Amino acid sequence: MNQSNKRNLEFIKNSGINYFLQETPRNWFENNTKSIKNTDNDKTDKIDQIIQKIKSFDTPLKNSAKNLVVYDGNLNAKVMFIGEAPGKDEDEQGLPFVGRAGQLLNKMLTAIKLTREDVYITNVVNWRPPENRTPSDEEILQFLPFLQQQIDLVNPDFIFLLGGVATKAILSTPLSLGKLRGSWHEYQSLQLNKTIYTIASYHPAFLLRSPQFKRASWEDLQMLQKKLHEKN
Ligand code: URA
Repeated sequence: MNQSNKRNLEFIKNSGINYFLQETPRNWFENNTKSIKNTDNDKTDKIDQIIQKIKSFDTPLKNSAKNLVVYDGNLNAKVMFIGEAPGKDEDEQGLPFVGRAGQLLNKMLTAIKLTREDVYITNVVNWRPPENRTPSDEEILQFLPFLQQQIDLVNPDFIFLLGGVATKAILSTPLSLGKLRGSWHEYQSLQLNKTIYTIASYHPAFLLRSPQFKRASWEDLQMLQKKLHEKN
């Protein structure tokens, strides 16, 4: 086994282990015995509970960040966009993707005839890392259960991963974005008992620095648009 596969296996083993590997998975929707479908009020209550849990989770990131940043958009969205971690603007406003990268994300959404209100937007890590550094593997793993809980709550048909950190967290792979982008991947939600079709693509902040990758990003967005059309 090569070194990167070994590291990756360790990563998967550690990833959300309490949450994923229980013999009897916790019933996240235990108050709703009829079906996993949530009413809007249920979803609002449940996201508030998740937010409270993230708030009370002890992490040094809290000491330097100003505001917790969890999500923007629609709790019933068919598509979930997942970024890395809040930056300066997001930290100030308490909302994901509101700075320059967020403006590009808005344009990317418009290009495939979506708005922020149509989708659910979140990050892997919910507090701004100091100096905007990349979240560590440990931080990714610490926040992963909260991300998984959001996926289970929103119950999207598709996930669009923005950049390497989100891709590592959700697809648990050491492969580069260059190799992963351009095809569909499968994210298995044990809780929902379903496969969520997932695209890994470039982060808007990276696209701002390296606009030559915008063409590839556009192709990935079109793949999503096509699938959304097929579903409707
Ligand atoms: N970059 C991210 O990954 N997330 C944000 O919310 C903003 C910038």
